[in-house]
Amino acid sequence: MNSNRKPIIAGNWKMYKTASEALALVNGLKSELVGVRDSDVEAVVCPPFTALYAVSTLLQESNIQLGAQNVHWEKEGAFTGEIAAPMLKELAVRYAIVGHSERRQFFGETNEGVNKRAKAALANGIRPIICVGEMLAQREAGQTEAVVRDQVTGGLAGFTKDAMLDVVIAYEPVWAIGTGKTATPAQAQEVHAFIRELLAAMFDSVVAAKVRIQYGGSVKAANAKELMSQADIDGALVGGASLEPKGFADIIKATL
Ligand code: PEP
Repeated sequence: MNSNRKPIIAGNWKMYKTASEALALVNGLKSELVGVRDSDVEAVVCPPFTALYAVSTLLQESNIQLGAQNVHWEKEGAFTGEIAAPMLKELAVRYAIVGHSERRQFFGETNEGVNKRAKAALANGIRPIICVGEMLAQREAGQTEAVVRDQVTGGLAGFTKDAMLDVVIAYEPVWAIGTGKTATPAQAQEVHAFIRELLAAMFDSVVAAKVRIQYGGSVKAANAKELMSQADIDGALVGGASLEPKGFADIIKATL
């Protein structure tokens, strides 16, 4: 971490938790986070769409922010099953995950679509968390940087320097997601530094120094501190370990 960038820990609940289960989880998390200041760390929860309204109400004036797990690029229209940015904005959603590897793998999302989704989020005052990361076979073939470069440049195509200040990038090696296999802090740092260099080349060094880059992939309380101690790791995108209040709160507190 670097003191110029406020750490951000986001919980991706994926397709877990009904609305009532979500409320119980958020109530537990609020208790665990009493005394944690949002000026020190941003804590974000990204429940399924069906729980956003209930959770939004519960999070009013709390030190936890609300995120969504995806967002469509059109403001409305005939796109069955999709959710538009103005719908999220009305629920006080502040962040939206875009391009998660599960969306890319199972729902055919492309860099171009990720780019459009991220732009729509920004246009509605929602900060996109743009996910990038290589698959195991790509890492083994020495293609990690090429894959990540493609996803970062494609996902951020046409972004202005100003817009970049509201963008969060999540580096999530696909082989580490939900597998219990975390990248070592050194492996993660290497790719984070590469992404930051890429941002400097695409925008400038001021932008690169300001953009927050999260690590994701089997982060838990036990490994969070070491990962966060790396110079270019500014937080975490957490799946499984965000479904339990104490474990998630401990990851948030590991940034303090
Ligand atoms: C994720 O879903 O983004 C993720 C990193 O999952 P997990 O923490 O379970 O590996």
